[in-house]
Amino acid sequence: MAYQHINIPSDGDKISVADGKLLVPDHPIVGYIEGDGIGPDITRACLQVWNAAVEKAYQGTRQIAWCELYMGEKAAGLYDGNYFPSETLTALKELIVSIKGPLTTPVGGGFRSLNVSIRQELDLYACVRPVRYYNGVPSPLKKPEEVDVVIFRENTEDVYSGIEYEAGTEENAKLAKFLREEMGATFFEGAGIGIKPISAFGTKRLVRKAIQYAIDHNRKSVTLVHKGNIQKFTEGAFMKWGYEVAEEEFPEHTLTEAELWDTHNGEVPEGKIVIKDRIADISFQLLQLRPAEFDVLATSNLNGDYLSDATAAEVGGIGIAPGANIADHVAVFEATHGTAPKYANLDKVNPSSLLFSGVMMLEYMGWTEAAELINNAFERVIADKTVTYDFARLMDGATEISTSEFANCLVEKMG
Ligand code: NAP
Repeated sequence: MAYQHINIPSDGDKISVADGKLLVPDHPIVGYIEGDGIGPDITRACLQVWNAAVEKAYQGTRQIAWCELYMGEKAAGLYDGNYFPSETLTALKELIVSIKGPLTTPVGGGFRSLNVSIRQELDLYACVRPVRYYNGVPSPLKKPEEVDVVIFRENTEDVYSGIEYEAGTEENAKLAKFLREEMGATFFEGAGIGIKPISAFGTKRLVRKAIQYAIDHNRKSVTLVHKGNIQKFTEGAFMKWGYEVAEEEFPEHTLTEAELWDTHNGEVPEGKIVIKDRIADISFQLLQLRPAEFDVLATSNLNGDYLSDATAAEVGGIGIAPGANIADHVAVFEATHGTAPKYANLDKVNPSSLLFSGVMMLEYMGWTEAAELINNAFERVIADKTVTYDFARLMDGATEISTSEFANCLVEKMG
C-alpha cells in the first residue's frame, strides 16, 4: 500500500509467514518506533549496537533494512495531532517484526494509552519478559545467577478488560441489584464493581505459546502461576485449561509434576518439559528464595504485571529489563520502562532495556549469533564498570558514562 510518511526501504525484503513459521530473509525490513522522552537517545544508541552485532556476526551477508514508523509525539507532529496513525498500524502488521521505544501517555480523560492501543489493535496477546542475570549487574540477591526465567503474561483479559462500574452510577446500581437479588451475592453498599473475565480461548493460546517456547529453547519446565485457591473459576480455570493444553496438544513433549514423581521418581525423562503450577503469592516468595526452581512461567494478566517487574528488580530493574508483545506471529519488541521525561535528550540513561528487547528480537528472527555477541559484549562492559548513571550509583568504583558512550563501549567489546 502507499504510505504517506512511512518509507519502506527498497534495499530490504519483507518478513513473511508460511506453514505457521516465520520466514526471515537475509535483508529483512524491520520496523522501529523511536519513542518519546528518552526514546530517541536510547534508540540511536541501540541501532548502532544492533547493526554492529549483525555486521560482525554475518560479515555483510545479513543486514537489517530499518523502516521508521511513527507513533506518539513524533507522529502527532507529522500527522496533524494523530498519536497513532492508521498507517503505522498497517505497517506494524505488514512488517510483522518491529521494535519500539517508550511512549508518553498524556494524562487526562479520553486518551487511551498508546501501549494499550497497540496491544489491542494488533491482538498481541502474549507479553513476554525474559529475566536473567548478567555478570556484574548490581543485584540485591545472594545468588542472582540463579535467575533465568521467561514470563508469559496474558495480555488481553482479566481485570484489564476495562469492565468496571464506578460506585454511585446507574450502571453500578443495576449490576449490584442483579448480583444481590438474582445471584445471591453479598458485598458492602457503595462498592465499585469490576469484572474479571478469563476464558479458555485466551488462556490456551497463551499457554500454548509458552510451551512451544519452552520446547524451542530447550527449557526444563513451564509453571502455571495462578490464584486458583481463591478465584476458582477464573484463576483456577486458567490452571486447569493450562494443563489441558499440555495434555491435549503437547503429549510427546510434556509431563506433569505429579507424573514426574508418580512414574519417574523425580527424574525428568530426556526431552520432556515438566508442567507444574504454583499459587501466585508463594511464587513471589520462591522467585526470591529459590529462583532456580523456575524456568518458563505462564500467568494471567494481573499476576504477570506484578511478577515481571518484581523479578526484573532482582537482576537490575527496569533500566535493563526487556520485553515483547506477541500475537501468533506479529511481534512488537519494546523497552519496558517509560519515557523518563526529565532525562530526555541528555544522553544519560541506560539503553539496556531496549537493547535486550532487540536481542530478543534477533533471537525471534533466528539470528542468535548476533544476539549472543551483544550478550557477551554487555558482560565485558559491565566488568569494566563503565556504566550509565543508574548502575554507577549502585556499583562501587564505577565510571559513569553517557548513553552513546555506553553504546560505543559495547561495539568496541564485540571486536
Ligand atoms: P519511567 O519513565 O519508567 O521513569 C521512572 C524512573 O525510572 C526514572 O525517573 C528513572 O529513575 C528510571 N528509569 C526509567 N528508564 C530508565 C532508563 N532507561 N535508564 C535508567 N533509569 C531509568 O516512568 P514514569 O515516570 O512513571 O512514566 C513517564 C511516562 O512514560 C508516562 O507518560 C508513562 O505513561 C510512560 N510510560 C510508557 C511506557 C511504555 O511506553 N512502555 C511504560 C511505562 C510508562 P530515577 O529517577 O531514579 O533516575
